[in-house]
Amino acid sequence: MGTVSNANAAMSQPKMESPEPRPQSNFLREIIAEDVRTRKFGDAQVQTRFPPEPNGYLHIGHAKAIFLDFGLADEFAGKTNLRFDDTNPEKEEQEYVDSIQKDVRWLGFDWERLCYASDYFGQLYEWALKLIQAGKAYVDDLTADEIRQYRGTPTELGKDSPWRNRSVEENLDLFARMKNGEFPDGSRVLRARIDMASPNFNMRDPVMYRILHATHHRTGDEWCIYPMYDYAHGQSDSIENVTHSMCTLEFADHQPLYRWYIENLGIFPSQQIEFDRLNLTYTLLSKRKLLQLVQEKRVSGWDDPRMPTISGIRRRGFTPEGIRAFCGVIGATRTNGRTDIEMLEHFQRDDLNRRASRAMAVLHPLKVVIDNYPAGQEEMVEVANNPEDPTTGTRQVPFSREIYIEQDDFREVPPPKYYRLSPGKEVRLRNGYFITAQSVVKDEGGNVVEVHCTYDPASRGGNSPDGRKVKSTMHWVSAAHAISAEIRLYDKLFTRANPADLAEGESFLDILNPNSLEILTAAKLEPSLASAKLEDRFQFERVGYFCLDPDCTPGNLVFNRTLALKDTWAKIEKKAGG
Ligand code: ATP
Ligand code: MG
Repeated sequence: MGTVSNANAAMSQPKMESPEPRPQSNFLREIIAEDVRTRKFGDAQVQTRFPPEPNGYLHIGHAKAIFLDFGLADEFAGKTNLRFDDTNPEKEEQEYVDSIQKDVRWLGFDWERLCYASDYFGQLYEWALKLIQAGKAYVDDLTADEIRQYRGTPTELGKDSPWRNRSVEENLDLFARMKNGEFPDGSRVLRARIDMASPNFNMRDPVMYRILHATHHRTGDEWCIYPMYDYAHGQSDSIENVTHSMCTLEFADHQPLYRWYIENLGIFPSQQIEFDRLNLTYTLLSKRKLLQLVQEKRVSGWDDPRMPTISGIRRRGFTPEGIRAFCGVIGATRTNGRTDIEMLEHFQRDDLNRRASRAMAVLHPLKVVIDNYPAGQEEMVEVANNPEDPTTGTRQVPFSREIYIEQDDFREVPPPKYYRLSPGKEVRLRNGYFITAQSVVKDEGGNVVEVHCTYDPASRGGNSPDGRKVKSTMHWVSAAHAISAEIRLYDKLFTRANPADLAEGESFLDILNPNSLEILTAAKLEPSLASAKLEDRFQFERVGYFCLDPDCTPGNLVFNRTLALKDTWAKIEKKAGG
C-alpha cells in the first residue's frame, strides 16, 4: 500500500515556520483569493461553515474539513459558522450535538455562530411553496420503489411521473396537507420539477420533502415533513451568506442541484467547492460503520482509544497541535487518495517529542540485584524532565540496591550484536551507574527471574572516570520505590491497509485486528508518575508516548500508550526522498 501522491507532494514542500499551520495545498485558497480580488460577493466577507450531521461523533476526516473551513476563512479575515445539518430526526441526537461542539473547540477552533438547519425549516417550507407556485415543484404519489424505477439508469432516461403535471392549486393543497399530518409516512413526496432526461441523476426531479412522523431532537413534533439534505444544505448556506461552501468530492454531482435551488429561488449565491476526502490506511472513516462498532461493542465506545474519532484519539493522547500540523501538510486536492496512517502518527510524535515529560517505566519487569550496593541505602539521581526543553527543569529519581529493568534488556545467551545486559557484559543505567551482570536466578521452568550484578560506584551519573565505553543505556526503576500501573497498548484496529477493500461475502468486522488492545498489569513506574494528571503527556524512555486514561481511580493508575517511539513514517519519507 503506497502513500498517495498528494501526501508525497505535500511532504516535499518546505516545512512552515508559522506555529499555526495553514492549509498548505492551494487550490481552495486560490479560488477564495480570486473571488476576494474580483469582489465576486461584493461587500460580503468570506464566510464558511462546518456542517456536520449530528448522527455520530466526529472523526479525523472531519478534522481535515474543520481545519480547511476555519483555517481558510481565518486567513481571509472571514468567519465560520458551526451548522448542524439536522434533517434526519431518526438518526440525530443531542449527545452528538454536544460531542461535536466539544471536539471542534478541542481542535482549537471557535465558531462565529452556532446554527441548525432545523432553524430554517420554516423558511425552507416557504421556499417550497414558492417553487410550487412557479410550477417548479410537485407532489408525487409514487412509492419510493416506483420513484427509483422511473428515475432510469445511467444509460436509460428517466420517465415522467404520472403526477408531474398536477395543477399548482392541487400541489399547494396536497403539500399543505402533507405538512398537516394528513398522510402516512412514505405515501407522498414533494419533488423539484427539473428534467427526467438529465444525464445527471440528481437533476431527475429530486425529492425535496418526505413525510416522516418522527420526533426531532430540536423541533420535537412540530414537523412531520422533513427536507432532504440537498434541498436544505444550499439554502442553509445561502441564509447564512456563506460565500465558500467547501465539502468533499462525493457532492460534486450534487452541485448543479445546489445551484438550481439557489438560482430558482433567487437567493444569496453561495458557492460549493469540493475537495478530497481524507482516507487513512488501516482506518475506516464512516460514521455509520463506526456506530456499528460501538453498538456491537467491538470497541468500548466512541472514545475508545483505537477509534479514529476525535474523542478516541484525544483519549489515546493525541494533541490538537499535532493534528493541526498534519492537516496543514495534507492540505486539499481534487482527487481522493489514501494517506498512510504513519504520517498522522509522525506529526503526533513530532509534537509529543517537544512537549512530553520524560519518565522511566518498565513494562515487563525483570528484577536486578546489585550485590555490592549497600543494603538499605538509597540515593536520588537528578534527571532532566525534557532534554528538548531545558526550561522544564529536572527531577529526583530514587535509586537503590534492587531495581527493575525490561525483560528484553537481558539475555542469558546473547545473540550476535546484542549489546544490552548479559553475563559479564557492562551497561549503563540511565542517569545512574554502570552495572555488570554476574549471575542469574531461575524459576522451576528455567526462566530467569533475577539477575545479580555489580556496579561501579565511580560511574555515578552514567560515566566512568576512566573513560570506559559501554554500548547500551537502559531505563530502570528502583524496586522499593516503584509504583504499579495498568498499561494499555494499542495497535491498528483493522488488519488491512484498505479496510474498504473487502472480498465477496466479507464484512469489515471480519478484518478487525484481534490484537489491537493489549493490557499489561505488572508494569513498574518511577514514583513521580503517581501525581500525573489527565492532560499530561509523557515519554516513557525507550518505550513510547503515554498519557493517563480517564478509567483511573485513586490508587489504580491506567496509562494509555499513545504511540510507540519508532517512527515508521520518517523512514518512509527518507526512502522516498532517496
Ligand atoms: P461519514 O461518511 O463519516 O458519515 P459525512 O460526510 O456523512 O461523514 P458529515 O457530518 O455530513 O459527515 O460531514 C460534515 C463535513 O465533514 C462535510 O462537509 C463532509 O464533507 C466533511 N467530511 C466528512 N468526512 C470527511 C473526510 N473523511 N475527509 C474530509 N472531510 C470530511
Ligand atoms: Mg453526511
